[in-house]
Amino acid sequence: MSTMNVTCPSCQAETAINQADDYAPQFHVCPLCGKKFIAERRAEGVAVMRVKDAPCMSNPDCREIETSSTCEQ
Ligand SMILES: [Zn+2]
Repeated sequence: MSTMNVTCPSCQAETAINQADDYAPQFHVCPLCGKKFIAERRAEGVAVMRVKDAPCMSNPDCREIETSSTCEQ
C-alpha cells in the first residue's frame, strides 16, 4: 500500500489515495466532489478514470463478475 497523489477525473482536484502495491484497479472516492473513480497502477505511474469511462478490465466490479462467473462454470 502506498499513498499517491492523483487528479480526480471528475473535478480535476488533486487528491491523495492509498493504492495497493499490485496492479489491480481500485475504487476511490474523491473527498472534494464525492464521486467514485478508479485508480489503476501502471508501469509508468497511476492512471485514473471515471467509473463509466473505465473499460471492463479496469473496473473492479466488472473484473469480479467475470472472475466469479468463470469459477462457476
Ligand atoms: Zn473530485
